Amino acid sequence: MTTSTSPTSSSSGLAERLAFARRGIADAARAAGRDPEELTTIVVTKFHPASLVRELAVLGVTDVGENRHQEASAKAAELSDLALTWHFVGQLQSKKARQVRSYAQVIHSIDRRALVDALRSDESTVDCFVQLNLTSDPARGGIADGELEHLVEHVLETPGLRLLGVMAVAPIDEDPRAAFARVRSASERVRRLAPSATAISAGMSQDYAAAIAEGATHLRIGTAITGKRPEHG
Ligand SMILES: *Cc1c(COP(=O)(O)O)cnc(C)c1O
Repeated sequence: MTTSTSPTSSSSGLAERLAFARRGIADAARAAGRDPEELTTIVVTKFHPASLVRELAVLGVTDVGENRHQEASAKAAELSDLALTWHFVGQLQSKKARQVRSYAQVIHSIDRRALVDALRSDESTVDCFVQLNLTSDPARGGIADGELEHLVEHVLETPGLRLLGVMAVAPIDEDPRAAFARVRSASERVRRLAPSATAISAGMSQDYAAAIAEGATHLRIGTAITGKRPEHG
């Protein structure tokens, strides 16, 4: 068998990569004394075509993640015949919030009051995570650690949002296990205010084992499963 070198043939080997990642996730769960069944793997398909998402669905993937509204919205519309759960994992502008609500079942990136207000609804409920910024750079997205409780309280008092838990991206310059340990303790603080918000969205292709060891329940895995992302601007 020859390996394709075309960057656009990202679907070649897809089933193998998915199986490999699933095994890695199950192994990491067992190593942490956890049941793999309690983990939700979200395949992050940003920059890949809808056709790749369709192939993933055929392979049994039920949860997909996107980080840009325009792209997510187009793919969700094109794939509306599939029973997929769409997770919005990217930074979200308040003016796009209502539109994202219309196709995403879960929003992972709640990081400020204005966004909570924009997502308010008296008609329907969307699942969400409060995103914690593990760096000191506000541009990275997420709420500063010291503001976490205030934001959680605002989510809890806003109709139309159901808080699942806390989400974070590990910084590039910190040991991921240490970073995810901070997420775990942030999760404990969140649960004091919202006992049912037990979920932790953490762990990507390079660091999911560390996230699982620190209690992650929702993994956001891109390239390890999809292959390299196509070129983008
Ligand atoms: C792209 C992305 C991921 C997946 O990253 P990989 O390193 O490709 O696994 C996870 N979470 C967020 C927020 C992302 O933007």
